Amino acid sequence: MPLTAAPAAEPAPPAEAILRRQRVRESAARTYARSFPIVPVRAHGMTVEGADGRRYLDCLAGAGTLALGHNHPAVLAAIRRTLDSGAPLHLLDLATAEKDDFTTALLESLPAEFATGARVHFCGPAGTDAVEAALKLMQTATGRRGALAFTGGYHGMTAGALAVSGNVAVKEPLPSGGDVTRLPFPFRYRCPFGLGGEAGERVSAQYVERLLDDPSGGVVRPAAMIVEVVQGEGGAVPAPDHWLREMRRITAERGIPLIVDEVQTGVGRTGAMWAVEHSGITPDAMVLSKAIGGSLPLAVVVYREEYDGWRPGAHTGTFRGNTLAMAAGAATLRHVAANGLARRAAAVGRYLMTELAGLQRQLPVIGDVRGRGLMIGVELVDPGAEPDVCGAYPADPALARRVREACLARGLIVELGGRHDAVLRLLPPLTITDEQAHAVLDRLSDAIAAAAPR
Ligand code: PMP
Repeated sequence: MPLTAAPAAEPAPPAEAILRRQRVRESAARTYARSFPIVPVRAHGMTVEGADGRRYLDCLAGAGTLALGHNHPAVLAAIRRTLDSGAPLHLLDLATAEKDDFTTALLESLPAEFATGARVHFCGPAGTDAVEAALKLMQTATGRRGALAFTGGYHGMTAGALAVSGNVAVKEPLPSGGDVTRLPFPFRYRCPFGLGGEAGERVSAQYVERLLDDPSGGVVRPAAMIVEVVQGEGGAVPAPDHWLREMRRITAERGIPLIVDEVQTGVGRTGAMWAVEHSGITPDAMVLSKAIGGSLPLAVVVYREEYDGWRPGAHTGTFRGNTLAMAAGAATLRHVAANGLARRAAAVGRYLMTELAGLQRQLPVIGDVRGRGLMIGVELVDPGAEPDVCGAYPADPALARRVREACLARGLIVELGGRHDAVLRLLPPLTITDEQAHAVLDRLSDAIAAAAPR
């Protein structure tokens, strides 16, 4: 007989009480919790059920983490198998069969030219940890300090990652990364040079090359360039393949290691297993997190072995061996590959973007529809204001907030992003069905039409 009887299962506290306690007990920096005042109790695939019994289609998917959606059977089976095996769950960076298997699955999934002879560093479990590790790795390897980063880039919230990110609002109270040279990211809709189209993309590349070669340009030879193939938080802005190939050429010719941040673009999201595959470039390092842990926290830096100048313990940390994340991650990587989900993401993404472009023709508040695969941005603008030199109207963040709310009221979770927080970002699981894609479009178009000024 146990000394104390197990308490009878208590009914879940009402959602309102939980939300109220969250408001008074958690930090003012809460983000998603403010946008979506719901208390999820169950989730499956793309559907999340709130404590109030309402169901939502989840186009946020853990900020692009849930490649297979919530609680996918392949992921749950891998977690259960691991739990039942009695394997230790936490092991610093010791060798385990689960880590060995994850490493195999990861290296098999990466482009062969990059994976052959590559090294994997398991770091702290967040994307920002991998960014810190990659920057430090390249600083050690090159003996240099600075970094090249892009306008609109987002790499995380720890000091180094924040320094290479663009968003001024979250950097402002902190000392800025003085060693970071900010370069213009090519962006057709809001071209940094006011040119737009291919001309703007060409100039963006030429500017980088000329700046680096200008002895009076003020740029000390940096330790690395860091770039996203499709800017995520920056508003689903894809880098053109030819521009990325130019960045590879320019950095290679000058001995500057190229770090590609695939934290958000990885694991099929953009319509290829890894977004670097679109342009065919081989980076010097890739930072990976989010989907690689199959919904559990996991992050790695993968890099070419010639950069492995670290001494033992040069970049240590406690949480680098989460056994369940390795198992869930390996299952996710294999499921995405075996089921052609990258191709599926490309097809559904094309369909969604075509339909959204049609909607744009009817609703002038939609200024731009862009993205790659299932990383889609719909930028909301004020068509009554003066357009800029490229013909783009000013962003309308207030309208975007109203649309987000109208979406939630219609059972659709969509978060905002972009330079002015006026971009609706669609990041559904790669397992989205045709029916769900239609439902997303219906609810989204209805929400935009309802929230837009008449
Ligand atoms: N890099 C990119 C491209 C990201 O999108 C993010 C997160 N949105 C990060 C890094 C940081 O990851 P984390 O939030 O896990 O620290």
